[in-house]
Amino acid sequence: MAEFAMTIDGSPVTGGRLPVLNPATAEVFAHAPACTPEQLDQAVAAAARAYESWRRDDEERRAVLRRAAATILASVGELAPLLTAEQGKPRSEAATEVRVAGSWLRYYADLEIPRELVQEDRRGHAEVRRRPLGVVAAITPWNYPIALALWKIAPALRAGNTMVLKPSPYTPLATLALGRLLSEVLPPGVLNVISGPDPLGALLVGHPTPRKISFTGSAATGRLVAAAAAADLKRVTLELGGNDPAIVLDDADPEAIADALFWGAFANNGQMCMAVKRVYVAQRRYPEVVAALAERARTVRVGEGSEKASQLGPVSNRAQFDRVAELVRDALARGAVAVAGGAALERPGYFFAPTILAGVSDGVRVVDEEQFGPVLPVIAYRDVDEAVRRANGTEYGLTASVWSPDLERAAAVAARLEAGQVSVNVHAGAVRPDLPFSGHKASGIGVENGLWGLYGYTDVQALTRPAIGR
Ligand code: NAD
Repeated sequence: MAEFAMTIDGSPVTGGRLPVLNPATAEVFAHAPACTPEQLDQAVAAAARAYESWRRDDEERRAVLRRAAATILASVGELAPLLTAEQGKPRSEAATEVRVAGSWLRYYADLEIPRELVQEDRRGHAEVRRRPLGVVAAITPWNYPIALALWKIAPALRAGNTMVLKPSPYTPLATLALGRLLSEVLPPGVLNVISGPDPLGALLVGHPTPRKISFTGSAATGRLVAAAAAADLKRVTLELGGNDPAIVLDDADPEAIADALFWGAFANNGQMCMAVKRVYVAQRRYPEVVAALAERARTVRVGEGSEKASQLGPVSNRAQFDRVAELVRDALARGAVAVAGGAALERPGYFFAPTILAGVSDGVRVVDEEQFGPVLPVIAYRDVDEAVRRANGTEYGLTASVWSPDLERAAAVAARLEAGQVSVNVHAGAVRPDLPFSGHKASGIGVENGLWGLYGYTDVQALTRPAIGR
């Protein structure tokens, strides 16, 4: 059975055994190390040592990060199968995830950071500088382990910080492999990758050395992270959950939007913070939209991620599978109709039939909570004001979309939605390295991506001096 190593101070480190399951078979297929508290100390100390030189030379960092991006892009063939085995996603999507991760790093290596000059005249000089923070502790979830790791690694390292990265215990392997690959390019200690069960995350957050916690995961854990970080005023970026609405206006053509709407909800088997989690449809379009989505849910090919034909894999782990099943059971018991799916598939592994729920409304758990799986409730509304009010009636505010051929009308509705990203005729269309990604309300604190994301790994320093030569 394959064994994997952590990366601490550039070297492979093993010890402890954390079993990792393949969700397509529900069987253990590999072990990751379980980091001890002493090894955590070593990783943090290595990052602190490396910081002293890594922070100094931006041009040198850019050159190293370009090489690191090339290493990732050349390693798709190694990382993608691991990602499929531990996470469940189809191989082509795993490959895309690794490529996206590499492109994020290249984007940050190439990013020109503007000089922020406030005053330059005969009275004096004032400018704003951005100083790195030091050691960053990064914690990632199991849905996009590699892409979300690079959302943190790329801006944090470019800004001059060093890092200790801890992936989810469900999906540590591709991230561990990434750590080993990048140790051939990055100076020792710049990126340390450790693995272990959830309490390791709490230990890392509570460690006195890191100056910043960058966390992606559930809102419940995010609250714990924020509380722990407050004790010594560590900076935090929290990218948390969502209950992302899509609003279909009464002039939308159901067939024309159905593919994009379906995949906005079901990509990665719905296990996407920015997936469509509930659809509000104008009453007169409701039957057609439900039918068009159900047709796609019935015909999409579900299977092992390692099989070429599979478009959707299994749910990624047992806990999530049980949660999806429970939410669907609850909705059906409360009068919802499964127009497609509605139950687990009769086969080994955590496969759940892609499910479209009709006749469901706010007040039912699958609408009110983040389902994070292959089930989509479709809800009818009477007028746009009502749709906007219901879409906003959640503690979350991550992404939202509005669907209509009238782009200005749709954009005006989108602007009324409480979410960090809103898009028209596509869902989460604003997810690009050069645009800010941030959660409103309980979906997070801080911003990832673009210059905004990079600035999150810095403290501002105002510098003033008299004008030279006067
Ligand atoms: P989770 O909160 O259970 O775990 C996330 C990470 O936190 C894991 O690495 C876990 O080991 C670690 N962890 C657990 N307890 C901890 C603690 N007390 N202190 C520090 N770390 C701890 O989330 P998950 O189930 O892995 O991921 C699913 C959730 O992530 C969903 O809610 C989803 O919406 C969210 N998510 C958000 C984004 C975003 O960008 N907003 C992206 C992807 C996923």
